[in-house]
Amino acid sequence: MNEKKMKIIGLLGGMSWESTVGYYRAINEGVKKSLGGLHSAQIAMYSVDFAPIEKLQQAGDWDGTAKILARAASGIEAAGADCLLICTNTMHKVADTIAAAIGIPLLHIADATAEVLVAKGIKTVGLLGTAFTMEEDFYKGRLSDNFGLKVLVPDDTDRQLVHRVIYQELCLGRTESASKAEFLRIMGGLAAAGAEGIILGCTEIGMLVNQIDTPIPLYDTTAIHAAKAVAFALGSD
Ligand code: GLU
Repeated sequence: MNEKKMKIIGLLGGMSWESTVGYYRAINEGVKKSLGGLHSAQIAMYSVDFAPIEKLQQAGDWDGTAKILARAASGIEAAGADCLLICTNTMHKVADTIAAAIGIPLLHIADATAEVLVAKGIKTVGLLGTAFTMEEDFYKGRLSDNFGLKVLVPDDTDRQLVHRVIYQELCLGRTESASKAEFLRIMGGLAAAGAEGIILGCTEIGMLVNQIDTPIPLYDTTAIHAAKAVAFALGSD
């Protein structure tokens, strides 16, 4: 495949940059696996400063976040991208506004994940992510309404724990063994409640917990989203 045929993947990253590193690696490895040799992905990335975005999230100013991200997405399109990935589950809360600002397709992280789950025949799934992702309809509702999945989330105390670990540890590049043990305990609880697998519905969770740590099937949204981008770029989706 020559570089003209391989499409350019647009990445809206930096939320946090720790997880964007994972996207960059997974996408390049995916292209290398398919095309071999010195092939690598064609990527146009805009990586935002996460601090002001997180402040706006806290303040509930989602329009403010959407404005910043829509502008960044337009820049990615102008740089030649053929598609856009928002490299975070949470910020898909404003995916519609971002999609409206561009003329290229937005590859939605929840849709990519749900497609994998449906293909595996999974009906009930556990979801870990930020409180926004675990509690609000933009994500959970999309999985159930559009794909018929039953989505289980941890109880209130454990949702707060997962949310805190994401922002105060993982987004800062810290992986603590105590937090890993807590995540595994919470996943075990969701499996005992009927979850056939767990969605790692925050792009940093794969830094903390891996399939090797548990017999419960894990669905890492970073890996799934990156694979979707590779399939798009190579025209194999
Ligand atoms: N990367 C995270 C996610 O996938 C959380 C950071 C954010 O708020 O965007 O939801």
